[in-house]
Amino acid sequence: MTVDDGEGAVVRIASNGLSRPFAEHLAALDAWRSHWPAFESDSTLDVAPDDVARVLSDLVERLTDNFPFFHPAYAGQMLKPPHRVALLAHALTQTINPNNHANDGGPATSKMEIESVAALAAMFRFDPHLGHLTAGGTVANLEALWVGRQLRPGAGIAYSGQAHYTHGRMAEVLGIRGVPVATDRQGQMDLDALEPVVATGEIGTVVATAGTTSFGAVDPIPEILALCRRHGVRLHVDAAYGGFYRLLADTDEHLDPAAAAAFRAIAACDSVVVDPHKHGLQPYGCGSVLYRDPEVARVYRHDSPYTYFTQAALHLGEISLECSRAGAAAAALWATLRVFPLLADTGLGPVQAKCRAAALRWADLIDGSERLATVMRPALDILCFYPVTSSMTASSISAASERVFQGGMADPANPVYLAKMGVSADILGDAGIEWDEPSVTVLRSCLMKPEHLAEVPRLHERVLALATGT
Ligand SMILES: *Cc1c(COP(=O)(O)O)cnc(C)c1O
Repeated sequence: MTVDDGEGAVVRIASNGLSRPFAEHLAALDAWRSHWPAFESDSTLDVAPDDVARVLSDLVERLTDNFPFFHPAYAGQMLKPPHRVALLAHALTQTINPNNHANDGGPATSKMEIESVAALAAMFRFDPHLGHLTAGGTVANLEALWVGRQLRPGAGIAYSGQAHYTHGRMAEVLGIRGVPVATDRQGQMDLDALEPVVATGEIGTVVATAGTTSFGAVDPIPEILALCRRHGVRLHVDAAYGGFYRLLADTDEHLDPAAAAAFRAIAACDSVVVDPHKHGLQPYGCGSVLYRDPEVARVYRHDSPYTYFTQAALHLGEISLECSRAGAAAAALWATLRVFPLLADTGLGPVQAKCRAAALRWADLIDGSERLATVMRPALDILCFYPVTSSMTASSISAASERVFQGGMADPANPVYLAKMGVSADILGDAGIEWDEPSVTVLRSCLMKPEHLAEVPRLHERVLALATGT
């Protein structure tokens, strides 16, 4: 992978792409530090330079025990390298280590967080909004469900059978009932199954998913919203993975009309979660939760005696379940959004568009081949498929998937890294599979990198060869 080093030369990311700008700007931060009286760092903290060198070289050695997440040959899990702007901003900020729990812990990065969260809210057309960054999507969802519980005491939550597994757990954490709702063949929440669940009057919040972790399926949010309104139930949207596809939802150019409409309908939902550390080019430790009604701030009221000193206005820490949070995460997102604004035609939009195009290109290639079949048309950039076998028994397909999965990782000169997933007849019931086992192993790919678009033909040829044993 190559990047422009800022002076017109194209360099590998591992060399000057990071180190030169880092050293330059670190020196500027050192100049800021030098404004305070000099002092000796304490001898108890001394480490011999040789020991530093040794431990870091051991670290690098240990770090090579990883899959090549940076490479477009890697299409397995939801993993991709952060943008180098994010990395640089994160590392520079971490030398100061601000804490965005309160303004006193990180005045500069708290402002960056507020600005970045406003940009995320604008993307979803939340105006006004309340929100903040979190360590990730799980705690962001927990927080939205907790707010829902406080506003609808005693009521449970409903989420689809394809929702992220943490929603069921979080219902347990919150001590409320969690009701999984059936999905259709497209992995979307089934409205006919949701209606009677909501009609019991025992549900306070419905969770819709915009981009499921398994298939990237997008629930029919406009219809779910209408149902929730009729019953006076809150609607929370888990867009941890798919949220940035909102950028492409103002036209039907990239997404199917139903998916685009679902993303647009988030504007009228009560809360939404999106993970900048999934599709927002950020290092891990960056999720977010946004509320359409700023009044939910009253739910968070607490009176910790020791955290707030300098401001009367609401602090980030006063509207958050978590206490300490890295200001560096806010700085990294803020810097990234400066160079990749949340727009359709420039900034992050074209990055998402290439991921989406990659999924469609590969789906077309697979649908046009006789040896592979897609599980469903991808709604976003997650594509699931399986080898077609002569017997078409679930067990033979699972064995063939396993061979492709293992074979893809075995040749470093022609690698394909995929993930595996079990799928049952509720999704693949019409695919002509003979169910000698209750579920079939399929291959799952997350085409999260714009480089995947150019890589797809090679990935396809390689998978085809592995599937046919040639
Ligand atoms: C990844 C994901 C989560 C969990 O987010 P983390 O950042 O991993 O905690 C929740 N919901 C969906 C739909 C996800 O894809």
